[in-house]
Parts: sequence; structure tokens; C-alpha cells
Amino acid sequence: MKILVLNSGSSSIKFQLFILGGEQTSSIASGFIEKIAENSSFQMIKYYLDEKEIKKEYKKKIETHKEGLLVVSEMLKSCSLLDDFTLLDGIGHRVVHGGELFSAATLIDDNSLESLKSISHLAPLHNPANITGIEVARDLAPNVPQIAIFDTSFHQSLPKRAYMYALPKEWYENHHVRRYGFHGTSHFFVAKESAKILGKEFYEINLITLHLGNGASGAAIKNGESIDTSMGLTPLEGFVMGSRCGDIDPAILPFMAKKLGCDVSEIENYLNKKSGLLGICGENDLREIIKRAEDGDKDASLALDIFCYRIKKYIGAYTVALGRVDAIVFTGGIGENSPLVRSKTCEGLEESIGAILDEERNRDGNFVEIAKKDSKIEILVVKTNEELEIAIQSSEIIKKVNKEFL
Ligand code: ADP
Repeated sequence: MKILVLNSGSSSIKFQLFILGGEQTSSIASGFIEKIAENSSFQMIKYYLDEKEIKKEYKKKIETHKEGLLVVSEMLKSCSLLDDFTLLDGIGHRVVHGGELFSAATLIDDNSLESLKSISHLAPLHNPANITGIEVARDLAPNVPQIAIFDTSFHQSLPKRAYMYALPKEWYENHHVRRYGFHGTSHFFVAKESAKILGKEFYEINLITLHLGNGASGAAIKNGESIDTSMGLTPLEGFVMGSRCGDIDPAILPFMAKKLGCDVSEIENYLNKKSGLLGICGENDLREIIKRAEDGDKDASLALDIFCYRIKKYIGAYTVALGRVDAIVFTGGIGENSPLVRSKTCEGLEESIGAILDEERNRDGNFVEIAKKDSKIEILVVKTNEELEIAIQSSEIIKKVNKEFL
């Protein structure tokens, strides 16, 4: 089965082409288009020929998502990977927000597309671009099944006590204000991988998964289901992130709006783009922050401290919520690559919850299981692969559709 995975942003398209068959799954090409509708667009495709990676870059000016997808199609053709989108078995689309309407991967037809449009207001920066990608792909390959996979759907299992805010209940009833959670595709993927590593059934596993990238979130997974997660109505709540504040006292909004004499959207911009690690030390790339901290920069050290301390507090809360924890799982660019963050986050967990990091294994970089033998809780480093998870879920829907037609 040939499945193209698309992640359509407001000015970009990321793509990955997979071949899935039996137990075998491989990514044969990936790439992106950036700066759509800007003065100079940029495109890149990476693929493998005789196990050698080949990279090609282009600078074609692209005005619309339709032109963008046509260029993706041309790139795949020029590399002899795919002659035409109509030859695909399916196209899997990453969609940020599924609201309460979508609790699983969904085949896109006119009805589901209308439903999806009806919840665009929940993620005005992301969902409209995701929908544009779906519409353009449908135009270019009308007979190819299009599947939407949502960042929120894995967290639709949250109990009401975890997803309701203590706000006027009409806000939930009339405006759908509740916690949804994000990064669901990643939390689900690494949870499945963790179950395999631990030799347990997925439906029996209890985990705390920590997706730490520019955006960062945690999930408490009980018997294979997400029962709590740190992001909320939007991806602003929870952990401290690259440029997002995470949990704060909401009264700071009106307080600072008055002080600065600005409106809510300006404050929202501060909280999303000028806060987090960036707000504390002027830098959002963790590699740079670590270098600066090592050189004695106090702001960078503080940013690191706050980042890890907040995650540790969530580990405590989720341990209590879960009762039994089989493993704490680190993933995402930071979780997978930073022994320092893993070490600072796990510092002191032996005394509180009996999780003991093996520093040697942690620093080595080649171990997946990094807890000491006598640790009560395993600690894992698991590489996430959201695109692969989208391809897998798409293939499952396609198989169902094909069965219905037989
Ligand atoms: P996104 O949320 O944009 O997908 P990623 O998951 O790629 O982000 O993570 C990006 C973050 O990972 C950046 O802060 C980057 O500095 C950090 N990172 C990547 N590699 C390392 C590393 N070797 N050590 C520390 N941090 C790293």
C-alpha cells in the first residue's frame, strides 16, 4: 500500500511517502515546501536509492497550496517514486483539532469535511490550513481515500473530571471550552512502542509519556487509554515550551493588558510567542540554552531549571492519578536527545516515587531502557514517529473501506 502523509500548515506542506505491506513498513521519501505565497518559496525532497540518501532542493515560487501539492507530485515523479497522486492507495492528513466530533482517524467525505469545518474556530491558526490541504488533495486525486488523523483524538478518552475546567458550565455547553490535549498521535505511538519494549499488552500498560519538543506535553496513560494530559483547549497550557508559557495564573492576562495598555490578542501573542524558554532567557533552542548554561549564563540555567521542574511536578501528579506506573517515557526532539533534561527531570524521583535513572545508560545515548535495575519504574527513551502513525492509521481505514467494497 502506498500512502502519502501530508501535514499542511498555513505557509508550508510537509510530506512523507510510505509503503506498507504485511509487517513491513518503510518511508521511501520525505520533504517539505516552505514559504508558500511568499517572495521566495523553498522545497526539499529526500529519498533513498540503493540505501543511499539523496537530497534535492528547489526554489520554485509557489503561490497556493494547490501549486504546492502539484510540486510535491512533480518532485515524487522526477525521482521516479510515484508517477501521479491518483496511483496512491490513500492520503493521510494530520489535523490539529478534532474537537469532540472526532475521536479516531476518519475517512474524509463531504459530510465529515463539513463537520471538520464546523470546528475550525477551535484551532483558527491550524485547522483551516489542514482543511485546505485536504481539499486540494481531494481535487488532485478524487478517487483516492483521504483520511484525517487528529492530534486531539487519543485524548478523547479523558474522563470529565480531567477535561472540564472550573468555569461557567455554559462556556463548555455553548462554546466547547474544555481540555482537549494535543500531540495525541505521538503519545499513542510511543505508548505502543513502550508496550512492545516492556513486553506488555497495550491495554494493560500504565505510562507517563513526555513529548518534549518546541511544543511539549505529557500524558497519563492507564490501561492504554489517555486519562489526563497537560495541554488544554489550546496547546498553550501545561509544560513550559520553546516560546509558550504553559501553566500560568490566568489573572496575569488582564493584569498585564492593563499595565501594557494592550488588547487580549497582543497578550495572547506574548504568551504564545514571547514566553516559555524564550521569555526567560531570550532563546528557545534547547541546544543553545544548554551551551549558554554550561558557560555560566544564569538566565539559561534558570530556564532549564524551570523547564525540568515543571515536568517533574506533572510526573508527580500523574503518578498519583495512575496509581501504578510501568514507565516514564521521554520522546520528542528534547526528550530523545537531551540526557541533561532527562537527568534534571528525574532528579529526586527515587525518594518520591522510586524511579531511579541510570546515569551511565542515560548519557550513553544508545539505550532505550535507562532506569537502574532496582528502579520501581522503568524509564524509556522512545523515538516518536507521528508520520508513520498517521500512515498506519490511514492504512487501517483503507483496509476497512476496501473490505466494504468487496
Ligand atoms: P517540534 O516540536 O518543532 O517538532 P522537535 O521535537 O524537533 O520540535 O524538538 C526541537 C527541540 O529539540 C529544540 O529545542 C532543540 O534544541 C531540541 N534538541 C534537538 N536535538 C537536541 C540535542 N541533541 N540536545 C538537546 N536538545 C535538542
